[in-house]
Amino acid sequence: MSDRITQLRNDFDGELKAVSADAGANALRDRWVGRKSGVITAEMKTLGKLSPEDRRVAGQRLNELKDYVEAEIEKLQADFAAKREAEQLVKERIDVTLPGRRIEAGHLHPITLLRQKIEDIFVSMGYEIEDGPEIETNFYNFDALNIPANHPARSPQDTFYINDHLALRSQTSTMQIHAMQKRRPPLRIAAPGRVFRRDTPDATHNPMFYQVEGLLIDRGITLGDLKGTVEEFVRRLFGPETRTRFRPSYFPFVEPGAEIDYTCFKCNGAGCRICKGSGWIEMGGSGMVHPNVLRAVGIDPEEFTGFAFGLGLDRLCALMYGLDDIRLLYENDVRFLEQFR
Ligand SMILES: [Zn+2]
Repeated sequence: MSDRITQLRNDFDGELKAVSADAGANALRDRWVGRKSGVITAEMKTLGKLSPEDRRVAGQRLNELKDYVEAEIEKLQADFAAKREAEQLVKERIDVTLPGRRIEAGHLHPITLLRQKIEDIFVSMGYEIEDGPEIETNFYNFDALNIPANHPARSPQDTFYINDHLALRSQTSTMQIHAMQKRRPPLRIAAPGRVFRRDTPDATHNPMFYQVEGLLIDRGITLGDLKGTVEEFVRRLFGPETRTRFRPSYFPFVEPGAEIDYTCFKCNGAGCRICKGSGWIEMGGSGMVHPNVLRAVGIDPEEFTGFAFGLGLDRLCALMYGLDDIRLLYENDVRFLEQFR
């Protein structure tokens, strides 16, 4: 009997070594210590045939073998579980040193960014932002702005007419008329928006472009107020060193009128490539609101005066970013626009 139990243990050890998976370990347990047909269970049943002394010794050894078998199988299963866990950890390992993946987000167009900056300056100076139609009647686009019937700006070669009475607006000055019709002075408004002219597209022209216009009407407003306001506006836009100059000019809706230049934001007036060596950059038109414009909206020019000034966003944007062609701003080429995120 004693040799037989030693043999059983050797057999079990051999079978144990061959098990390579969980299922095999379960089968091994059934085979050796299963309640119905386990090898050790069957061996226990033969003990009754032995003498009492041999039965005691063999029974003890069989019980030891049973404990050994159960302990070995448990150990094996624990090993399998540990191995599975280790494999899982390797599979799910996160390398925190890898560079992250950037989530592509949209961003604002450079002209929108510039427009917002200019709007913020106007608002900080007490102006309200006005928005209005891009299709206008001749009254808003020309008549009320004192543009005479024979003025070349009215020609179909310069203006996009929709019919005899309607056209795409040629300037944001149309918003002056809307604002003055809606509200009585004193008023301060800034009107940003798209305007349309029948220009042939080239590096510095596009048939659609952006303007911003400021208008102030009150009692006792003078040319000095215009100059002071424009100087302050330009300093807030380009920095406190910036200077301005006014050159007499003619626009039908102002009297007197002036072109505004400001010292180059790049060279501060010394002369560089951006300002073509002159030290100055043209900003746009300005002037005291023409009495005829005030009369067109029922404001008495003897009681109220005012000024207006405007600038084009596209060329300014092109200068600020060193673009040599403003059409780049409208082509919606994402590779180009991505630079401004
Ligand atoms: Zn310059």
